[in-house]
Amino acid sequence: MKCIINGKLVLRDSVKENFAVVFDKRIKKIANTNDINISEYEIIDAKGMYVCPGLCDIHIHGYMGADVSDGDADGIKVMAQGIIKNGVTAWCPTTMTVSKREIETAFDAVRKVKNSSGYYGARILGVNSEGPFINPSKKGAQAEEHILAPDPDFILANKDIVKLFTIAPEVCGALEAIEKIKKESNVLISMGHTNATFEQAKTGIDSGVSHTTHLFNAMTPLTHRSPGVVGAALSDDNVSVELIADTFHIDKGLFGLIAKIKKDNLCLITDCIRAGGMADGDYTLGGQPVRKEGIKCLMPDGTIAGSVLELNKAILNILENTNLEIYQAVNCASYNPAKVLGQDNEIGSIEVEKRADFMIADDKFNVAMTILDGEIRYKGE
Ligand SMILES: [Zn+2]
Repeated sequence: MKCIINGKLVLRDSVKENFAVVFDKRIKKIANTNDINISEYEIIDAKGMYVCPGLCDIHIHGYMGADVSDGDADGIKVMAQGIIKNGVTAWCPTTMTVSKREIETAFDAVRKVKNSSGYYGARILGVNSEGPFINPSKKGAQAEEHILAPDPDFILANKDIVKLFTIAPEVCGALEAIEKIKKESNVLISMGHTNATFEQAKTGIDSGVSHTTHLFNAMTPLTHRSPGVVGAALSDDNVSVELIADTFHIDKGLFGLIAKIKKDNLCLITDCIRAGGMADGDYTLGGQPVRKEGIKCLMPDGTIAGSVLELNKAILNILENTNLEIYQAVNCASYNPAKVLGQDNEIGSIEVEKRADFMIADDKFNVAMTILDGEIRYKGE
């Protein structure tokens, strides 16, 4: 068994110094270092850094040149191994609104990697299907020609692999689809790419929506006489939200307000595209051209097209722009998304009997080591 010592242990509700964590594939013991006979274990010295739970990214399209919508199992493995370097140990490969055939091919590629034996990278929880049942007027970077009328059977036929999907609750047939999917599966239903009014969003929530795709982006905004989807998502304690905390998609001045309102229902995501981890230049997203310049990814008409954010950096952005405690900011990228997907009995926090997934990072959240299922899978220089 292994034991991490000399770290600041980031637990769900506190940060503990002089504590050690003992694990094999699962966490076996969390105790004061003085109460552990360290000679019994293979020691990992955290050198005073934060020992966090492995991170969980539930909305990411691409990384290191690969894109889930390519439908290529090898590309999904490239991503799974790439994001390990950012402390991510669990993720949902996320499809774009491409053609139905291409979406199905991508689902199959994810199934193939998820069901393969041996190590392939960060653990795949299941697919996040962004669309195709969205509103063309809020398509953002999604291809309009591939937007479809809501078809609950498409999601239900793939409920073995789809963990969550995005739908615009106001489009014709959406409420019936939401109700059927809610009744016949555990798939998480997220509102997004939506032009719904506040009332339409509330009706969607009453029908089974319980999550929000990248809050503020590609949805009706919050204004005082028209609270929109943003108002509905913020005012309902049973609705969780995703946030792209790159400081470009959302002004950093709002981070604290959103965190204060949504608490454990705030999930940091990257919405990263294939340009993530790559040099500035020209790439594609869902078959459309995208240019990466610094932290921005734009289509030729100026539409924002995903991000190149890395999840460990999102935690730092939240910490630097709110008064959240370290453990609260880390929860937003580990425990909260795990809970939203019903995986919090297995992953998302450092607790006895959960999987031994850890990110060891310095105070700027640069990742020094990532451990998955008790094995060191990344070690920084
Ligand atoms: Zn996305």
